Amino acid sequence: MAEKESGLLEEECPLATKDEIVNSGNKQKAILTAQYGPSEGEQKCGNCEYGEKLKGCGLGKDEVFCEIFEFKCKSSGVCDAWDNEED
Ligand code: SF4
Repeated sequence: MAEKESGLLEEECPLATKDEIVNSGNKQKAILTAQYGPSEGEQKCGNCEYGEKLKGCGLGKDEVFCEIFEFKCKSSGVCDAWDNEED
């Protein structure tokens, strides 16, 4: 098993970061149940308690991984489950 210099081993990355079908299904769930979409205010996935900056799992520069809905979300997006990361 090859270990990367930083971040998670690929095997440890959430399924949705490796499987686009799972990712888009979970994203749909976030849209339907929590109105996930573009943020127009200060509350964004990029500063949400549940937005994980997973390293080594193929996230784009403008993406974080949502721990609640388990999908790759835009740092500039938001949903109804947003919570302050400093709580
Ligand atoms: S819970 Fe947080 S990270 Fe997940 S979609 Fe909602 S705002 Fe984004």
